[in-house]
Amino acid sequence: CGIVGYIGKRDVAPLLLEGLQRLEYRGYDSAGIAIHASGTGKAGGLKTAKAKGRVRELESRLPKRFAGTTGIAHTRWATHGAPTDENAHPHQDATGKVAVVHNGIIDNAAELRARLITDGVEFASETDTEVLAHLIGRSGAETLEERVREALRHIEGTYGIAVLHADFADRIVVARNGSPVVLGIGEHEMFVSSDVAALVSHTRQVVTLDDGEMATLKADDYRTYTTEGSRTTATPETVEYAA
Ligand code: GLU
Repeated sequence: CGIVGYIGKRDVAPLLLEGLQRLEYRGYDSAGIAIHASGTGKAGGLKTAKAKGRVRELESRLPKRFAGTTGIAHTRWATHGAPTDENAHPHQDATGKVAVVHNGIIDNAAELRARLITDGVEFASETDTEVLAHLIGRSGAETLEERVREALRHIEGTYGIAVLHADFADRIVVARNGSPVVLGIGEHEMFVSSDVAALVSHTRQVVTLDDGEMATLKADDYRTYTTEGSRTTATPETVEYAA
């Protein structure tokens, strides 16, 4: 239902929770967050928290140490699997290195899931989204962008997604097909959301992805390209928004 993401210098959890609150008006049944953990002195890997219910419930469940400057978050409106803690996004692969938030519906999820189970994959949720996390995690491609692209080739249906990978801590990869994704361009920081309402308190410079488009966000730059990998031009527009 709702996606927010941030990469920059600020403490990410409060920013993402605020973003989710701005999306609450759309309705949802659960919420969750994944961040690149930092401040532990070594590469911290991903940390996640999720909860059925309100964003406030999620907030109360955040571990004490939940510091980082890159993260993604989601409010879910269940289509595949009941509203439960386990079915809340983000979804992860078996190694826990991948975290995915997803809006939309994967039409061939049952078939992909059956195939992955035959290959020995254990599922942690009933969602259609979780197949994406496993497909990305199992890709042998070199870059995160290629891994996401490879995974999306198997997907029939609609998606707006944001992806974190523990081994690629300097970026968020996003993609759109039939479900909105808007980039918010800041100064040494980048935002992403499914809804411009979550961005306008931070920046008025936005780039709206088209269907079949992906983007890589880093703290200091972003680039957009098609799901086939060719670059697209993205000129930010200034949004006028009466808050
Ligand atoms: N189909 C996904 C699910 O049921 C995403 C739903 C949404 O857009 O929130 O988990």
